[in-house]
Amino acid sequence: MASFPQRVQDNILPLSVGDTLPEVFTEWMFTERAYDYGKPTKTCELCEQESLRYHFEIRNRFTQKTLWVGSQCILKYQVPIFEQGNAVSDVDAKKHLNHLMKKMQMDSCLAALQRLAGSEGSSILQLALEYYRQHNMLSPKHAYSIFWRLRSHRIDHNPTAFKVNLKSVQLQEELREMVTSHVHTFWPALTSKQQELASLLGHTPPAS
Ligand SMILES: [Zn+2]
Repeated sequence: MASFPQRVQDNILPLSVGDTLPEVFTEWMFTERAYDYGKPTKTCELCEQESLRYHFEIRNRFTQKTLWVGSQCILKYQVPIFEQGNAVSDVDAKKHLNHLMKKMQMDSCLAALQRLAGSEGSSILQLALEYYRQHNMLSPKHAYSIFWRLRSHRIDHNPTAFKVNLKSVQLQEELREMVTSHVHTFWPALTSKQQELASLLGHTPPAS
């Protein structure tokens, strides 16, 4: 049997029915409750790792005890994750948690932008956010107004999580007429095909 850190044993065994690891982890499951603290300030209640930004709740099916842990512990100790009543595979468990973390990151990013739109009284930013909520995409001008704020206000974000709409001729024209340095602010949000299109429209890629 693989050895488990003493602190992991000390934290989980008193809350479980069984008394051996790793078997005891099968009593537990991820509850789908997760929390984004915005900053890496939390500790895993299982392995006691510090500096976690996201907490995930696991619950023992027999004792109903819960722990707030890091995603790494759920994966490492194979705490079951269920989708539509079925436990998912290791690969899908990782995807499931990554998807949740990306969603939480996007939610907190949009909330930060919304607060900014309020404090700036910026109708352009407000419109960009409304457009994004409706279409899940940004026009080039919206992308610029959002991305320069993300950068200048150091708002945590994943650039590739934003999609830019370049389908229509009008939107392509909008991109063509933009200053290249403005296009560079949202360059990482463009797909490789869109980056090629931007080059064809006269914008050189940013120096990496
Ligand atoms: Zn942990």
